[in-house]
Amino acid sequence: MTRPYELVIGIETHVELATRSKMFCACDAKWFGASPNSLVCPVCLGLPGALPVPNRHAIELAITAGLVLNCEVPEHTKFDRKNYMYPDLPKGYQISQYDLPFTVKGWIDIPAGDTTKRIRIHRAHLEEDTANTKHGEGYALIDFNRSGVPLLEIVSEPDMGSVDEAVAYATTLRETIIGARVSEMRLEEGGGRFDVNVSIRFDEGGQTHWPPQSEIKNLNSYQAIRDALPYEAERMWRDWQDGGEIRTRVSKITVGWSPERKQTFLQRSKEDVQDYRYFPEPDLVRFEISRETVDRLRAGIPELPAQRRARFVSAYGLSDYDARILVSDRGLADFFEEAVKAAGGEAKSVANWVTGEVLRYLKDDGGSIAKAKLRPQHVGSLVRLVKDGALSATAAKEVFVEVWSSGADPATVVRTKGLAQVSDRSAIAAAVDAVLAENPKAVADYKAGNVRALGALVGLVMKQMDGKANPAVINKVLAERISSRS
Ligand SMILES: [Zn+2]
Repeated sequence: MTRPYELVIGIETHVELATRSKMFCACDAKWFGASPNSLVCPVCLGLPGALPVPNRHAIELAITAGLVLNCEVPEHTKFDRKNYMYPDLPKGYQISQYDLPFTVKGWIDIPAGDTTKRIRIHRAHLEEDTANTKHGEGYALIDFNRSGVPLLEIVSEPDMGSVDEAVAYATTLRETIIGARVSEMRLEEGGGRFDVNVSIRFDEGGQTHWPPQSEIKNLNSYQAIRDALPYEAERMWRDWQDGGEIRTRVSKITVGWSPERKQTFLQRSKEDVQDYRYFPEPDLVRFEISRETVDRLRAGIPELPAQRRARFVSAYGLSDYDARILVSDRGLADFFEEAVKAAGGEAKSVANWVTGEVLRYLKDDGGSIAKAKLRPQHVGSLVRLVKDGALSATAAKEVFVEVWSSGADPATVVRTKGLAQVSDRSAIAAAVDAVLAENPKAVADYKAGNVRALGALVGLVMKQMDGKANPAVINKVLAERISSRS
């Protein structure tokens, strides 16, 4: 679709770090699903006199995140107070970072068609999450379990120019962060949230125009980005066309997204940048990040998705497409590698199973591969049975269904269900002879050059043998018998 304007997109990503405890106290950081206000103490409730103690692991994860995003790690850093009044922030300020964040000036490469595009990272700073507010009719409920959970805010430069690029950035960033074990980034549990800044730019009357920027807050799925971005851009464009009020009065607005109504809604319009009166947090010292620490953290970074993808292509001969699907989920990629071992190589066949049947069943069951009854050894065994001619590809799918639901050994299922493939030449030859005798027309058609007639004959032989014959042997015998008849 061609639009009358260009899109200019930047994304701020909030990532809950994978620590056991909160940012400045010892409370459990795994707030999702916990009973309301059960994970609190004077520090994360913001009670007077409580003092923050920084979480070393959170700081190390923040630096690790910076390293995998190709950022610089400055030697000096500090926390600052960001002052604002909000019910979910009882202290009246959030401990965040202002001018000296933990990491700055990085980049990631995102897939863009057949090539990649480099998106610059402006900075990534560490802060504490706020409490959770639920609004009802005339009242609000606050749950402080999330208050004080370590949050990394990763700010991109406005380098994305399309919805696809925005989604590719969010996806690549998330996979990289998960791959580096910095965060699980479970979007459906609030473990990762995207604020998307969108501007539209166009030429009109010999001038370039930039209508007020819009920030779409708290998108928590790729689909939400895919839906909200074009909606908001179109709204901004129509608003400009209609000479909307916003056009002259403000520089930026903040909107929310309703996935049910598939619409954005205005949250606030600001005339000036909000003044948070940042100042250095007096209850915390400044941090000197030694180069030894940075080197140690760098050495501990596991294989990242981009590297793993490249290895899957070079070592297993997979397509980039298949490699991308497998690596998008660490558990799935691990499963694949174990299954390849169990299959004695045969990576391509294993990849077909995993990206095909396994993913389809996972999706239907809504579970994760770790919880499935199907184990990598099962897939390895299925692949070997098919390769050895003991099981047809069709029967293998039937065996798979049984293994998926019961976790039984594939060889046992083949035996108990009588699904073993017949590769016995004399049995197949008898069936071939019978079919050829009954179908002289198909034989004549094939000889006259109709290649599809052969397929029909193969199908008839297969039917005669209850679908259990080895198609390779059928093909071979058919070809021999037909040529010997001429
Ligand atoms: Zn606490």
